[in-house]
Amino acid sequence: MAAPKGNLQDNLKKLEGFLAPLRENGVLNHIGGKKVPAASGATFDNHSPVDESLVCSVARSSAQDVDAAAKAAKEAFPAWRDMPATERRKILHRIADGIVERAEEIAFLECQDTGQALRFMSKAALRGAENFRFFADRAPSARDGRSLPSPTLLNITTRVPIGPVGVITPWNTPFMLSTWKIAPALAAGCTVVHKPAEFSPVTASLLLEIAENAGLPAGVWNLVNGYGEDAGKALTEHRDIKAIAFVGESRTGSMIMKQGADTLKRVHFELGGKNPVIVFEDADIDRALDAAIFMIYSLNGERCTSSSRLLVQSSIRDAFQEKLVERINRIKVGHPLDPQTEIGPLIHKTHFDKVTSYFDVARAEGATIAAGGEALDCEGHYVKPTLFTGARRDMRIAQEEIFGPVLTAISFETEQEALEIANGVEYGLTGYVWTNDLTRALRFTDRLEAGMIWVNSENVRHLPTPFGGVKSSGIGRDGGDWSFEFYMEQKHIGLATGQHAIPRLGA
Ligand code: NAD
Repeated sequence: MAAPKGNLQDNLKKLEGFLAPLRENGVLNHIGGKKVPAASGATFDNHSPVDESLVCSVARSSAQDVDAAAKAAKEAFPAWRDMPATERRKILHRIADGIVERAEEIAFLECQDTGQALRFMSKAALRGAENFRFFADRAPSARDGRSLPSPTLLNITTRVPIGPVGVITPWNTPFMLSTWKIAPALAAGCTVVHKPAEFSPVTASLLLEIAENAGLPAGVWNLVNGYGEDAGKALTEHRDIKAIAFVGESRTGSMIMKQGADTLKRVHFELGGKNPVIVFEDADIDRALDAAIFMIYSLNGERCTSSSRLLVQSSIRDAFQEKLVERINRIKVGHPLDPQTEIGPLIHKTHFDKVTSYFDVARAEGATIAAGGEALDCEGHYVKPTLFTGARRDMRIAQEEIFGPVLTAISFETEQEALEIANGVEYGLTGYVWTNDLTRALRFTDRLEAGMIWVNSENVRHLPTPFGGVKSSGIGRDGGDWSFEFYMEQKHIGLATGQHAIPRLGA
């Protein structure tokens, strides 16, 4: 992926312009078409991972704010549901146009807020626009059903939007992930209450502003900022919210399931991963190397689909790892707005502490730190891209999601052993298999426990395909019609085609 044009100094000047309104007003809630502070007036400070500087203050919502947002979403629901889908399609396309117009602002703010490199974020805004266009075009067919005639009935199915839904998103690529959840919900005819992550709340309010400027009616989409344990929890417990689409950690998913139990909430979870990239000796080694590096060190390794475990066949292990170390040591860590940067700072001090703590874990477990393994000596949450080698499958570094630019390499002898190691974790989001043996690829992908698998490829997202994980990596699928299955209810209607015999009790 080529570096974007420009230079850091110019980009920093531009950033100041984008930050000015945020500094003045902070990030507010957005309920029923109005930007409002939290009812209590409470706020929290949002700092940049780049240098801990204050980005802005943010509304700190409580159950009272969530209730106001849920009421607005409930009130707006009937008109949005009943609007001709072709009209909804137009509005969603206009939202995509608005995103494209402000793509640079979105990318710059996302970099400053999350620490993700501009190299990747400049594309993320445009991918967000694509999500809106993709689901916009499907809105007119979202209600379509089937005809399943029986001898006495014409059975038809149809789908209706489930109602107001809650969307809860994480901090790693907040803009793109928000569009990924909210676009299909709106296309289906649902109204939305969105709770973005407290570590990176900036672009969510920009996105809603764009949507309302594009003609989205007030109340159709509402935003409440705040912490997971108060605003997030209240959203999952609210009676008027019919479903929760959640992206985040597996243990948070488990909490949400409990919190939503009393109101029998429908849930869709996209959770953590410890995804294997499995390289067999017959693979195209150079391509496997490029893909393995890209899938763990892009997006700061803060990527649910990252290939955080390298399973490499022992016959090619030494040569592969040698090339890997050479490349890792050349990866450019730096300011996210420097176009040359490949890895930026980690999101937050607490996350930085978590990621760096695994350097000691690796040493204590007896693995080798073949690259990186230390923080950069500067302000900001910068760590060097890291490779652990000589790991065993049962080590913590081979089992736990680190969610940083940290790769754990484990070697294997046979295909069966590779499969056992690959499947021997609690997660099952993605898998990447490198082999030129077609029958092995078929056999292996069939038994690999993962929701998404690529053979001889990095993760290349295709919007009509199902996105989601198995085991502790998630419940449900996004993408194509799978998204509508979540945001809509199936209905069956049976119409009698004649005078069939009806059992006559008490006749
Ligand atoms: P997190 O679970 O800590 O937080 C995610 C969101 O949940 C935040 O908005 C947070 O405020 C909210 N939240 C926290 N506690 C809550 C509660 N009790 N009730 C309701 N909401 C609550 O996750 P994170 O640290 O922000 O994100 C990183 C995680 O997200 C990683 O595990 C990563 O793998 C996962 N992730 C998964 C995917 C995927 O598609 N599978 C994509 C991106 C990130």
